[in-house]
Amino acid sequence: MNKYTCHVCGYPNLDEPPRGIDGKIPSFDICDCCGVEFGYEDTSEANIIRYRQKWIEAGGEWFCKEMKPADWDMKKQLKNIGVDIID
Ligand SMILES: [Zn+2]
Repeated sequence: MNKYTCHVCGYPNLDEPPRGIDGKIPSFDICDCCGVEFGYEDTSEANIIRYRQKWIEAGGEWFCKEMKPADWDMKKQLKNIGVDIID
């Protein structure tokens, strides 16, 4: 099964593409990592940036805590979508 990347947090294990197979109908799934609901909270680039910023500021909390790998690295994951955070 193909896996897809969350465009908010870079989580690379989504079962469905956030914007749907044809890019038109969102999956309406919730990201296990950042908890964004595709099709609601990511409807514009500005919304994506705002949601991502909030999530980073909150320390990168996992929506689905049992899915979080022990060696998880927020900065490394954000690189999947070309986002660099400087501390
Ligand atoms: Zn996410």
